[in-house]
Amino acid sequence: MAEDELYIERLKEKLDTIEDKELLSLVKRLITERNRLQEIANIDPLTGLNNRRMLSRIREFSGIMMIDIDDFKSINDTYGHDIGDYVIQQIGRILKSSTRAQDQVCRLGGDEFLIVFVDCPEEVMAKRAEQIKFNINKYVIIPESNRTVTTSIGYSYNYTHANLAQVMKGADVALYKSKTDGKNQINRFEQFLPTIDEGPKLI
Ligand code: GH3
Ligand code: MG
Repeated sequence: MAEDELYIERLKEKLDTIEDKELLSLVKRLITERNRLQEIANIDPLTGLNNRRMLSRIREFSGIMMIDIDDFKSINDTYGHDIGDYVIQQIGRILKSSTRAQDQVCRLGGDEFLIVFVDCPEEVMAKRAEQIKFNINKYVIIPESNRTVTTSIGYSYNYTHANLAQVMKGADVALYKSKTDGKNQINRFEQFLPTIDEGPKLI
């Protein structure tokens, strides 16, 4: 639990020791307001998805997937920022509907998204990556044009119970390969092998 959450929990435990009714009511309102602000601070206003602050709350996870829209700058430049926003929102919806409730979908910023998979075998993650790529390409269409949208994806499975930053780094390396190999594709990160010191590897 984060330090500020512990602090609130301790405050809640002490509520019944407050005898002054007005003070009690004020403290309760403060706690409610604090929780509301906390929620707003964790949400990306454009998509309603979690924002990157969510990452600090992640404890157990099976793997990380990163998804980045291809040539998004050209979508913005050609059709305008509002259409760009619409594309981001549609992709957010597809990511939500392609994952289960326990998986966390997050907009990292700009045109980049991240999914934290929980309690999920690697084959299922691989299948989800295919579905996401396919569904975005099929269902996200720029209004009043027939231009479709492609994405590049990288994912990393957490075989070694590594920390979140390490697994995210792996997904990022895999995503980078998807971009440099021509975009509109998926790569997975091969874990660091403890006995071989050759740096990150991709298959
Ligand atoms: P690549 O295929 O290599 O990913 O290139 P790209 O054009 O998708 O990526 P790049 O990083 O060059 O451009 C991302 C653009 O996303 C630049 C920025 O102006 C735009 N952007 C960032 N946030 C938002 C947003 O909230 N709404 C809109 N419409 N555009 C945004
Ligand atoms: Mg992009």
